[in-house]
Amino acid sequence: MKTVLCRPLHGAAVPALLMLAMATTAQAAQQRDTLVYDLAVVPRRAQLVIEARLTRAEPGAVVLAAPPGSRPAGTTVAGLTATDDGGSPLAVRRTGSAFTIEAASSGAIRFRYRLSFQRRVADGSTGAALDSTRLYAATRSVFVAPEPASYRKTSRAYPIVRVRVAVPAGWRLVTGWESEGGEHRPASGDDLLGATIAAAADFRIYLDSVAGKPFLLAIRGRRYFTDSALVAVVQASLRRGVEAFGPIPAARVTYTSELGRKGRSSGSLEGVASIGLVWEPSELLELPRSHDTFHETLHLWFGGAIETERWWTEGVTDYFAARLYAEWKQRPEDLAALCYESYKNYLAIEHRTRMTMADENRRHVGGDNTELLVYRKGMLAGLLLDAAIRRATAGRATLDHAARRLLAMAAERSSRRVRDSEIRSIVVEVGGGGTVARLWDRVVGGVSPLAQTEITEALRDVTGRTLDPPGQPKRRKVLRVAPHR
Ligand SMILES: [Zn+2]
Repeated sequence: MKTVLCRPLHGAAVPALLMLAMATTAQAAQQRDTLVYDLAVVPRRAQLVIEARLTRAEPGAVVLAAPPGSRPAGTTVAGLTATDDGGSPLAVRRTGSAFTIEAASSGAIRFRYRLSFQRRVADGSTGAALDSTRLYAATRSVFVAPEPASYRKTSRAYPIVRVRVAVPAGWRLVTGWESEGGEHRPASGDDLLGATIAAAADFRIYLDSVAGKPFLLAIRGRRYFTDSALVAVVQASLRRGVEAFGPIPAARVTYTSELGRKGRSSGSLEGVASIGLVWEPSELLELPRSHDTFHETLHLWFGGAIETERWWTEGVTDYFAARLYAEWKQRPEDLAALCYESYKNYLAIEHRTRMTMADENRRHVGGDNTELLVYRKGMLAGLLLDAAIRRATAGRATLDHAARRLLAMAAERSSRRVRDSEIRSIVVEVGGGGTVARLWDRVVGGVSPLAQTEITEALRDVTGRTLDPPGQPKRRKVLRVAPHR
């Protein structure tokens, strides 16, 4: 499996803010602060020139967060200045990644800055790049904006956001936001900072819907697969997701398929509904990348609609992605190949018998998705739990049933958060008790090594087939030739 960086950025408060926005009267909505951005894309300088106007009811200093300066963001903010609405300069202080604009009186403020791009080709789907032919960026690399978390903490509504973008002649803009009359409308601060924005003259746009929810797929450049092959994988991932876990938890989904450089293959969910896919030059749309695309789609549910432990949102998501892909293709051997690959990676993780997946996450152990337990052991945990539930219930229940109950639980909470102990209770209950509880405590709660034989057995429980690990000596087929008479 290629090194694929995958990072869903969580925007858990979006639905809560939406509900808040809907609950307020039109008059109250008018009192909400507004934040309007005008972006001009200037390819020859590899820059965006950005002007913003923020109205506010409360006087006092305004604190804005800058895009992350480190890799893979790939952008630098320069020349940020601010004025009041009449054009009088306001003092700006930069401390670390925050800009503080001193504005004693209330009323609108304006600020402007240049955003320089360090890369012509994005370092990955979470990065940013601009050259003479295209723009691709995760929006948190673009906007200097009030921090959504500070609004959540005080239960204040984030300003109503509008974004207008001037692109070079002939370029087509693709964003993860709703748009109307040339304006793009991020639903909240999380949505503003957790989306993708891309523009180019040569995007090929595909619009379709799955289970009543529209999705847009924008593809540019050529790779060794057809657009229709990618459209089919995206459609299947959404359809299989809906069948397993219920309605798509977003009003619409945007996929942006962009060209990357060698060795930088990646996909990510930005925010809750915007998926970036960056391909390296020689990539094929075969098992690994189709599996990744399923994985990113399933983040709409796990990582989007539900926030929980990383071993679940990454590892179990990876298992579901593998199983749903294999079911779609009717190739159980693909599920086996991905599980055995995970097992091989798992064996190479040196801390596997020293740390639980939660320990690893708490200690911020670094590495890509082949080097971390939350991915590799997490995927195997998904397989083993699914198999144990099926075995214990004689096939009447699966891990999908548990996942649906978790999603229902998360939907009741504004934080969307479900705790590990709650997942355990539900998984054990769905699986009928003791055996599943013991498996959980050993695999999720413990550090004892996993054996390859239990992977093979679990695959048998899930697929009904015996799928041996690769490289095992095959039982030789003996061709018996009828003897000549
Ligand atoms: Zn992921």
